[in-house]
Amino acid sequence: MSTPDASPVPAGLVDRFGRVHRDLRISLTDRCSLRCTYCMPAEGVPWLARSTMLSTDELVRVAGVAVGLGVTEIRLTGGEPLLRADVVDVVRRMAALEGPGGSPEVSITTNALRLPALAAPLRDAGLARVNISIDTLDRERFANLTRRDRLDDTLAGIAAAKAAGFTPIKLNAVAMRGVNDDEVVDLVRYAVDGGYEMRFIEQMPLDAGHTWERTTMVTQAEVLASLRTAFTLTEVPGRGSAPAELWYVDGGPATVGVIASVTAPFCGACDRVRLTADGQLRACLFAQTETDLRSLVREGADDDALADAFRACLAGKRAGHDIDDPLFLQPVRPMSAIGG
Ligand code: SAM
Ligand code: SF4
Repeated sequence: MSTPDASPVPAGLVDRFGRVHRDLRISLTDRCSLRCTYCMPAEGVPWLARSTMLSTDELVRVAGVAVGLGVTEIRLTGGEPLLRADVVDVVRRMAALEGPGGSPEVSITTNALRLPALAAPLRDAGLARVNISIDTLDRERFANLTRRDRLDDTLAGIAAAKAAGFTPIKLNAVAMRGVNDDEVVDLVRYAVDGGYEMRFIEQMPLDAGHTWERTTMVTQAEVLASLRTAFTLTEVPGRGSAPAELWYVDGGPATVGVIASVTAPFCGACDRVRLTADGQLRACLFAQTETDLRSLVREGADDDALADAFRACLAGKRAGHDIDDPLFLQPVRPMSAIGG
């Protein structure tokens, strides 16, 4: 609820630890064209019911409230965000929102399969940046890992993003033991040669099958040790709230990053809040509770009530994800239904 003496500039999204939230991650769909083993089951996915998914008008309205509360970055994700039929329109409308910090920077995280068709229209619509997931350069491994034989389509999508003029293009890989951990050097070479920025992500307990184990995951230290067999790495200072720690490769300007969510969590600097495709606000990837914005929107709540719901959600945000706590509980939703 707004108070009569409220300042004309709405109070920002500050939680009880003083973290200011400026980055809204929006899942546009829980559907996906791949079935990565660390994210989705091979089959039998419990899809969100269509009637529960926010319409584009509803999404833009909620995003507009967030931008009014100081959000300056909107990242579209999923599932596979490019499967949403009107994704270009979503980007155009999100990029045109205005708040106290101006219009938000809109970016996307994608498996790239639809980028050959969409890269140029997305850029014209105001998309600022693209992050592309690619875990291996080996066709058979790709097919095993994603359960779809589509490496060539991903590579074509990366090339299409480059041809459309996106820069920088970040490539994300989840490092997995015995699956692709012997490929980290090759992935960095591919990225450096193509002018992309490679980022390795520590695997998190977010798979649909709940098979993640702390003892077998590939750590940041292991990724760096492998990379140092081939490259000289020099730390890039000034990480800010960015999840990736960066190193110059052989003196730069190319960089490689590691997102060490498990072994070196960056929760203290977290500025992210997440909206699922079915309109649930989550203060953290690992949150056990959600704030039901869909019901509020559909019951006719005004923008002040939505802003209050954002603040209430963040008031309950925990200091950290506690993955190392013996009492840690994996969220019920898999990553594909939260939005990475
Ligand atoms: N489909 C798009 C893609 O793959 O880029 C966007 C959604 S995907 C959930 C977003 C990111 O989350 C991807 O980079 C993916 O590799 C990462 N991801 C998925 N499951 C993960 C897990 N269990 N641990 C760490 N990262 C994960
Ligand atoms: Fe799909 Fe992305 Fe999950 Fe892979 S990581 S299954 S591409 S949502």
